[in-house]
Amino acid sequence: MDFSLNEDQELMVEGYRQLMESRNWEDYFRECDTNSEYPIEWVEAICELGFDRILLPEEHDGFGLDWTALTAAYEELGRMGGPTYVLYQLPGWSTVLREGTEEQKEKILSFVGTGQQMLNYAMTEPGAGSSWDEMATTYTRRDGKVYLNGHKTFQTSAMHAPYMIVMARNADDMSVYSEWFVDMSKAGITKEPLKKLGLKMDSCAELYFDDVELEESDLFGTEGNAFMRGVQDFDLERFLVALTNYGTAYMAFEDAAKYANQRVQGGEAIGRTQLIQLKFAEMKVALVNMRNMLYEIAWKSGNGTLGRGDCSMAKYYCSHASSEVVDHALQVLAGIGVTGEHRVQRAYRDLRVDRVSGGTDEVMILATGRAALRDYR
Ligand SMILES: Cc1cc2nc3c(=O)[nH]c(=O)nc-3n(C[C@H](O)[C@H](O)[C@H](O)COP(=O)(O)OP(=O)(O)OC[C@H]3O[C@@H](n4cnc5c(N)ncnc54)[C@H](O)[C@@H]3O)c2cc1C
Repeated sequence: MDFSLNEDQELMVEGYRQLMESRNWEDYFRECDTNSEYPIEWVEAICELGFDRILLPEEHDGFGLDWTALTAAYEELGRMGGPTYVLYQLPGWSTVLREGTEEQKEKILSFVGTGQQMLNYAMTEPGAGSSWDEMATTYTRRDGKVYLNGHKTFQTSAMHAPYMIVMARNADDMSVYSEWFVDMSKAGITKEPLKKLGLKMDSCAELYFDDVELEESDLFGTEGNAFMRGVQDFDLERFLVALTNYGTAYMAFEDAAKYANQRVQGGEAIGRTQLIQLKFAEMKVALVNMRNMLYEIAWKSGNGTLGRGDCSMAKYYCSHASSEVVDHALQVLAGIGVTGEHRVQRAYRDLRVDRVSGGTDEVMILATGRAALRDYR
């Protein structure tokens, strides 16, 4: 299998590299992380280079490229220190284009090229995390309108995204799960920000819906299809987390490698000691495995052979392998890593959150294991 990039992909990667070298982004990222602010200047800059057009079909003014191009973009941006976890909304056009009404599509497509946060999908509730069986948010029809009631928790981007796709059950038949395209400026919506360990450049919030009035035209997709819709889009969601994990690990590895070669203790560079070399051997194995797995999945996606458990496996593997790399990198950086504000320290916090958000390790293991067994049924 040939994972080398073609000329267009090389040019795209070169563009991102130049952008990352064009200013001291790290100062900006540190400030955004400290203040829990979305790094809009950076996202705008990469969207000017067409980041959000990578998977957008050509008929919508996109590039219509594939997961391999996306992988190359995430790899370079992550390696150069970009907080790629904030970008998850930008490759996800397929859901809105597949499920949305013309009006909903128009609203979301108006964000192309802006870098602004647009929407996210609200499933999780205090009583419905890994399993949606006990979801309690409901919708009820009354006098030609639809009313949404409930409480969603851990909602990424929810403090600022103008739209949320909210999953709810039909109060008259709780077996029916549907999704609603909710304008977040509507009356009856309360948002409460949540603090978190890492991934601080994107907001996270509790959302309360108190008799929020919707129109029938706000239904997103087909009534009763919410479960299937969610499952259908898990692959890309999980793949994006794995890509972010890999890029972050690559950054930490390179920071540590440069440091190990120049930091002298006891008369020689620490990189010359065997215990430090062992860490680099383990980091390198993890990075190569992540890279091969991700490019292979991207290739399979482009060839219609993506396996059912592939993206869950990648999320599970990469979140662990990247944590191991970053942990080693911090150990190499030692004092300057664990004090002050080194970016590898931030990576350490960020990666830990990814083992929970977007589906926990345990849920990834179950999905991967089930898919592996299915092949031998
Ligand atoms: C930072 C962050 C951002 C998030 N963003 C969003 C978002 O934008 N939209 C959204 O809808 N949700 C979001 N989530 C929710 C996230 O998907 C859930 O937190 C996650 O699915 C787990 O739910 P829980 O925290 O309630 O844990 P629980 O489901 O209560 O699980 C607790 C523990 O039990 C384990 N467990 C549960 N069931 C099983 C089982 N059957 N077998 C084995 N182990 C099991 C879990 O793996 C975990 O270790 C986000 C979460 C975080 C932390």
